[in-house]
Amino acid sequence: MLQPGGPEGSQLWAMVLPRLAQRVGLATYDGFLCNTVALAYDGTTFVLGVPNQFAKDWLQTRHAFDIGACLTEAADRPVALRMEVVEAGPEVAAPDPPAMPLPHATPAPPPRADSAAAGMPLNPRYTFANFVVADCNRFAHAAALQVAKCPGRSYSPLFIHSKVGLGKTHLMQAIGHYVKQENPSWQVVYLSAESFVNQVVTAIRDGRTEELRRRHRYVDVWLVDDLQFIAAIEGPVSEEEFFHTFNTLYETNRQIVLASDAPPRQLQIMNDRLRSRLEMGIVADLRAPDVETRIAILEKRAGAEGAQIPREILEYVAQKIESNIRVLEGALLKICAYQSLNQGVLTLAAVEDMIADYSTASINRRLGLDQICAHVATIMQVSTEDIIGPKRVREIVWPRQVAIYLCRELTDKSLTEIGHFFGGRDHSTVIHAHHKVSEAVSNDEAVLWFINDLRSALQGG
Ligand code: ADP
Ligand code: MG
Repeated sequence: MLQPGGPEGSQLWAMVLPRLAQRVGLATYDGFLCNTVALAYDGTTFVLGVPNQFAKDWLQTRHAFDIGACLTEAADRPVALRMEVVEAGPEVAAPDPPAMPLPHATPAPPPRADSAAAGMPLNPRYTFANFVVADCNRFAHAAALQVAKCPGRSYSPLFIHSKVGLGKTHLMQAIGHYVKQENPSWQVVYLSAESFVNQVVTAIRDGRTEELRRRHRYVDVWLVDDLQFIAAIEGPVSEEEFFHTFNTLYETNRQIVLASDAPPRQLQIMNDRLRSRLEMGIVADLRAPDVETRIAILEKRAGAEGAQIPREILEYVAQKIESNIRVLEGALLKICAYQSLNQGVLTLAAVEDMIADYSTASINRRLGLDQICAHVATIMQVSTEDIIGPKRVREIVWPRQVAIYLCRELTDKSLTEIGHFFGGRDHSTVIHAHHKVSEAVSNDEAVLWFINDLRSALQGG
């Protein structure tokens, strides 16, 4: 008989659930995932308890890949997934929240549980202590630290932007950790804009908008990540709700921190007052780290993993992988795993091999939007002119969405650059296309295989 998962398994599962909800969609989430529980986790295998055989079959056949991927991402190491049916799910008792006054006088605090439901858990690794400061991020780091020390008083809103994988989420969550540690009674809510949109949609559907407002409008520190999703998915309704929440918090001197892949000026939002308020705050960007910084980041991470990797190997990896820090760390984790399986022996030759086959990063960087588009056009038997052109018939729209999806997945081009390439379409069209294809990939195995074939043909060629 399995033992309950213990704090680590449950904590991991708590981190994974919100991401999973976004990946699999709310129907699957509400129907199957919210009744699951972490049964065991030993660092390599995660055992998930599901309420019945039907749920097990459903999740196993359709979502095992997504669940495994989210677990691996959250644990930062490969995690194998197993599912077991548990008859009566173990009850998870929520700890009683301490009744502490809010730091601000207005308005009266709602029950803490409301705000707890609004956010996602913080990754324990994303702290200031684990963040390497260098020229590429010095200003953003200083602003974030200032905000963490004096929330709501100095820079609100703080707006952080950069390309993917350069530390936005890390810095935001570092603020969250710091504030929670210094002021345990403060309500810190971290969430993605996509989750906010989903909450708005669900609240409207269920007639529970008051509850939604209570959750968000009385927090002390509101950290909203990936803001580019705010207008792109459901349009003006969620943007309006966001604007009102933003205003309430702004006017009551709460701390607001936002992160996005584009600066406020380039955000696809319709509300000009919101845009100007965003621009009036502190806007800080993160740039790609130079090679010295990449080495420092690898050294820090290897240290945190308890691995001893020779400096020349770290230098080699830092030179080879320059696109984004997440990819860099992925390579390092693979090297650490190899080293520990190989009784600590690690040669540069072995690492060269590993990086060569691992590093889709370097392949991806070379892959151009035009190549992806041309390949999709050939395979799907349409012309590139049509893919890029204005036609809106289904026979063209689907290949176009597939091409956009692959550009988003396989290059580090920004939404704006991709939109521009596809006939001057805007950034919300790119997000929408990506969303559509991701949905199809998770709902339909034939699409999954088709997209995987396209992907490997592009990466291999
Ligand atoms: P973004 O949100 O911009 O896509 P993340 O914050 O998720 O990027 O960062 C990607 C990975 O890189 C994370 O694992 C994070 O810890 C790491 N990282 C980014 N910047 C730094 C830094 N300056 N020092 C240490 N680790 C970093
Ligand atoms: Mg992020």
